Amino acid sequence: MNTKKIAIIGAGASGLLCAIYCARHKIKVDIYEQNTKCAKKILVSGNGRCNITNIEASKVNYFSQNPDFIENILDNFPYKKFEQFALSIGLILDVKLDGKVYPLSNEAKSVASLLINTAKILGVNFYIENKITDIKKLFQAYDKVVVATGSSAASHLGGNDDGLEFARVFRHNIIPSYPSLVQLKLHSSLHQIMSGTKVDGVVTLLINNKISSKTSGDILFTSYGVSGFAILDISQEASEALMNYQVVDISLSLLPKYSVQKLSSHIMKILESNSNISLLNVLHGLIPLKIVKALLVKLELNQEMKSAEINIKLSKKIANQILNWKFEVKDTHGFRHAEVAGGGVDLSEINPKTMESLKKKNLYFCGEVLDVVGQRGGYNFAWAWASGYTCSKDIIKY
Ligand SMILES: Cc1cc2nc3c(=O)[nH]c(=O)nc-3n(C[C@H](O)[C@H](O)[C@H](O)COP(=O)(O)OP(=O)(O)OC[C@H]3O[C@@H](n4cnc5c(N)ncnc54)[C@H](O)[C@@H]3O)c2cc1C
Repeated sequence: MNTKKIAIIGAGASGLLCAIYCARHKIKVDIYEQNTKCAKKILVSGNGRCNITNIEASKVNYFSQNPDFIENILDNFPYKKFEQFALSIGLILDVKLDGKVYPLSNEAKSVASLLINTAKILGVNFYIENKITDIKKLFQAYDKVVVATGSSAASHLGGNDDGLEFARVFRHNIIPSYPSLVQLKLHSSLHQIMSGTKVDGVVTLLINNKISSKTSGDILFTSYGVSGFAILDISQEASEALMNYQVVDISLSLLPKYSVQKLSSHIMKILESNSNISLLNVLHGLIPLKIVKALLVKLELNQEMKSAEINIKLSKKIANQILNWKFEVKDTHGFRHAEVAGGGVDLSEINPKTMESLKKKNLYFCGEVLDVVGQRGGYNFAWAWASGYTCSKDIIKY
């Protein structure tokens, strides 16, 4: 029997999983990787722990022009199937209460090395430091070609838009791409005073002055703007809106357990019972000092103000600022710092059962190169595994 030969461009999450399934079915697989190392994004993922998937992944966890497509692909490769796959390569998983899954080793490098070693043992040929520039040439040497090149996010790890260029060669439509799970730059300079401080707060995202979403968690002030999990969680919507020239603001509540009424009463009570205490000290009992200093600049108040100078109206103003601090978002921190990218190859031109291009026979796409971006929580890898598996299923049939 004539052995079929396939080329996979990209030795990241989706490409490696696809390679392993194909090689297990006696298909000759050559995988091309531009970097000196494979799976660089897996290695840094989840702060070095790799949030490898999420047991509850469904279309609601993704942004795309075509959510139903995503649901079909995720159904092909449900968590139980992924768990069996992981076990088959020697990887034991640890499911957390919130549905996030990590390798039991707690080390992303165990995920990368088990995938790479398994592929090598199965006879997959790795062509490292081998950047593909001409996809048409590959079709002269291979029966099928899989584009698993990822997105432009994190360019220092190899993120690029080569996959979009390959798609364009065959006249695929591309949904404009934008950084996601990314920090935000602000129009104010106050964040510089607060740089390095972290609070557990609530972020409300406003697009064209209308509330678009709300989330809670870490907010970290930096020299360029804001970071932290709560910011990353709203960054997809913010980034897409910025790309579409909409007005984007965030409103921060830095003490979400308080109402304006309760906080202003608290401030008044402390001032009344300590007549010599300064406003700075009262506020420092509530929030980090750098934030107090920025707050006083914002409200043009003297930090040495004493209780006699502060009335209920002013204490309400202070409380309102702490609980509804609005900043205009200037930009994202860019693709370089983003974990993932939205947009990509338009799913309406991809076969939803096979991941094969509807524009070019024997051409497949999987992973982040497609118009699919997930929330934080293991959903992006869940998509990479499921889409890589779906490609392999069709290639194996052939
Ligand atoms: C810092 C960081 C942390 C993350 N943490 C998580 C997490 O915990 N959980 C989660 O679900 N997701 C996480 N992600 C996202 C996740 O890493 C990606 O969604 C996933 O790796 C995408 O898989 P992929 O196969 O599509 O692309 P990639 O894994 O990016 O692989 C694409 C590969 O193709 C190669 N390539 C590109 N162009 C060419 C070319 N022309 N020729 C040859 N090779 C090429 C690239 O070098 C790369 O190795 C994180 C991302 C980053 C940057």
